[in-house]
Amino acid sequence: MQPEVIVVGGGMVGTTLAALLGEAGVAVCVLDARPGPVDGDAGRGQPAMRVSALTEVSRRLFAHLGVWSAMTARRVTPYTAMQVWDGQGSGEIRFAAEQAGVPTLGHIVENDVILAALEARLAELPAVEQVFDAQVGDLQHDDRGRRVTLKDGRAYSAPLVVAADGARSRLRTLAGIEAEARDTGHRAVVTTVRVALPHAGVARQVFLPTGPLAFLPLTMDGEDRYCSIVWSTTPDEAERLTGLTREALGVALEEAFERRLGRVEVIDAAVSFALAQRHAASYVSSGLALVGDAAHNIHPLAGQGVNLGLMDVAVLAEELLRARSRGAELGDVRVLSRYARRRRGDNAAMLAMMDGFRLLFGARHPAWQLARNLGLSGVDRLTPLKRLLMRQAIGERGRLPASCR
Ligand SMILES: Cc1cc2nc3c(=O)[nH]c(=O)nc-3n(C[C@H](O)[C@H](O)[C@H](O)COP(=O)(O)OP(=O)(O)OC[C@H]3O[C@@H](n4cnc5c(N)ncnc54)[C@H](O)[C@@H]3O)c2cc1C
Repeated sequence: MQPEVIVVGGGMVGTTLAALLGEAGVAVCVLDARPGPVDGDAGRGQPAMRVSALTEVSRRLFAHLGVWSAMTARRVTPYTAMQVWDGQGSGEIRFAAEQAGVPTLGHIVENDVILAALEARLAELPAVEQVFDAQVGDLQHDDRGRRVTLKDGRAYSAPLVVAADGARSRLRTLAGIEAEARDTGHRAVVTTVRVALPHAGVARQVFLPTGPLAFLPLTMDGEDRYCSIVWSTTPDEAERLTGLTREALGVALEEAFERRLGRVEVIDAAVSFALAQRHAASYVSSGLALVGDAAHNIHPLAGQGVNLGLMDVAVLAEELLRARSRGAELGDVRVLSRYARRRRGDNAAMLAMMDGFRLLFGARHPAWQLARNLGLSGVDRLTPLKRLLMRQAIGERGRLPASCR
């Protein structure tokens, strides 16, 4: 079958787009450089190191696609409250799901659990072909629209190619779309821990002078004493932390986290990732659309990256299906521009907000410290503003696509 859409990058964002289009009968080909599907045992045994905090809106999208139950059958951990405090002062804010009138604020889910459920769904859809071991080398125009050539010489053509190939998108470069990378001055140290005190379904984050440290709750075999760690810090400090023994890293985490969850036992290796913020100068050109990290790459301090990417593909699928029902060309830049217009503002606002947080909490001047204390505690008392921030955390911003309502 000739594809109508080629999705380059079968990560969480690309596979979600393929599922949305494939279930509507659009012929989609997903190309990914990975050697094969994710481990079938994802979500069983010890939690994987890479997790995502999914908003309620992202959960609704997965429920719409019929994949949420496959994720819960493996492992998901709901969180019903968020607690954020200033490690240098007294400011603190706490959001609880009941204040927003919702049962949960979101869920922590291992990335491989998300992907395993989506890949299984794609395998059921006759309109979708998944091709692994497919590293893209070139992108050209041809008489069907766009042609993607793999490093091994195989070639695929379609009216529309979607770049979902991550922050260092090869397709974005091949298409000549600029995306200035702004160094955040941070690397994220990631690992998994067991804590002495129950996390009670609360996602916690402390802002240290070097960057934010998050303890994201995970529950294994009914025990709420596991957390996924995302510690954003300077590159030197990240190197020092990843070089420590597990015991010494546990002590460093306990101290930095003010022992709020008691003793910390590190149960996995600690790995660090560079953190840059990028925003592509354009999301679309004729026969090409950028989605997810290929379009925007954001600091993980508010756990928004994949959620923004999921909103991109929900909106793009909605616009493509509407255009297709009218008989319009899927690669027509006027169709694609509707997607770009609906998504660019939300993504830009979130990128700017992350910059603001980082600068405010990285500042050591006493005036900034006062602002932080007054700000956090003030917001905590001001119910309407707090409710607005909570709706942001849940993902309810602007006009949502029908698949997410
Ligand atoms: C430490 C850390 C913590 C985070 N925590 C959160 C969180 O709590 N919540 C949240 O929402 N987000 C979080 N994020 C962000 C989130 O991980 C990303 O936004 C998300 O993974 C982006 O998904 P994607 O599908 O766009 O790209 P990716 O996950 O990068 O997937 C890209 C895919 O493209 C494939 N690919 C790449 N190049 C090629 C090529 N040339 N040819 C073919 N295939 C190719 C890759 O194999 C991969 O499968 C975090 C990020 C980091 C670094």
